[in-house]
Amino acid sequence: MRDNKKTSILIIYTGGTIGMVQDQETGALKPFRFDNILEEVPELRKFGFNLTSFAFNPPLDSSNINPAAWIKVAEIIEQNYGSFDGFIVLHGTDTMAYSASALSFMLENLSKPVIFTGSQLPIGSLRTDGKENLISSVEIAAAFKNGEPVVPEVGIYFENSLYRGNRTSKNNTEDFNAFMSGNYPPLAESGVHIRYNHSVIRSPGKKLPLVVHKQLDNNLAILKLFPGISRTVVESTLGIPGLRAVILETFGAGNAPEEDWFISAVSHALQSGIIVMNVTQCKTGSVEMGVYETSRMLAATGVISGRDMTTEAAVTKLMHLTGVSRDISWISGQLAVSLRGEMTV
Ligand code: ASP
Repeated sequence: MRDNKKTSILIIYTGGTIGMVQDQETGALKPFRFDNILEEVPELRKFGFNLTSFAFNPPLDSSNINPAAWIKVAEIIEQNYGSFDGFIVLHGTDTMAYSASALSFMLENLSKPVIFTGSQLPIGSLRTDGKENLISSVEIAAAFKNGEPVVPEVGIYFENSLYRGNRTSKNNTEDFNAFMSGNYPPLAESGVHIRYNHSVIRSPGKKLPLVVHKQLDNNLAILKLFPGISRTVVESTLGIPGLRAVILETFGAGNAPEEDWFISAVSHALQSGIIVMNVTQCKTGSVEMGVYETSRMLAATGVISGRDMTTEAAVTKLMHLTGVSRDISWISGQLAVSLRGEMTV
């Protein structure tokens, strides 16, 4: 850790369960005033850091998070980038993986920690998981080694594990352990000590100025396949006016029905300039088009492999790329490479 007096962390509270306390009269959960965070979590004072907070007003349940909220978070980080060593984003768990993925693409050349966290129980409740999540996130965001931040990337810290944000999915509505990263190891795990897995943490390389991308195009759809999916559903989805990209959520290693009407609906979409990307419905493993006959046809039509990307990363990567460009061959090139460690290439 650096000289404690100088370490400064900005906590951005977007909303979600973590920021709730029980009203003493009614017993109902209500957001607490985030400028009072040190009163709610006095343990934070022991770090001796300069902790500053910014709260969304009104706080958002994360089901109401949208690209405008991502832009707001990105702008707060941009405006304060030079003044803080690290950033914590407190966020509802429901869409946290989308937001962390989005921010990873929006913040190009990031060289400081941006750690998302939240909780399953409000910070004001006795058995809360929020305190440990927040305290450990602050410790991670403030961690330095040889004068450099240990985790210079967008992460999600939850219940003892720090994951790369764009590799994470919410997989449990009940357990404190609510997230998983099926295709990438944890960046750190906390027990008595926080153990960093240095070899899997991204290095910013040559330090370039932060570039904040604020153009996001939400003209995309997810078409989740299931046995018996009707021609009408497939053709209607692929025929949505103005659609720029479709994520085909396929079976297993990227497989889909072989019926002629299905293949021709997909190739028609591709010919009309819609980007079609193949992402598996499985939480672990990768799309490998061509292993089975049921995916060879997709590859032959020009569908792009999403490899081992999560749906959350695929959605936000496409929003980002279609937001910054209309050039399909450039976008396809960017989809084939890993921009922020979101897929294994
Ligand atoms: N519905 C809440 C949200 O995502 C749940 C949570 O905070 O965990 O905002």
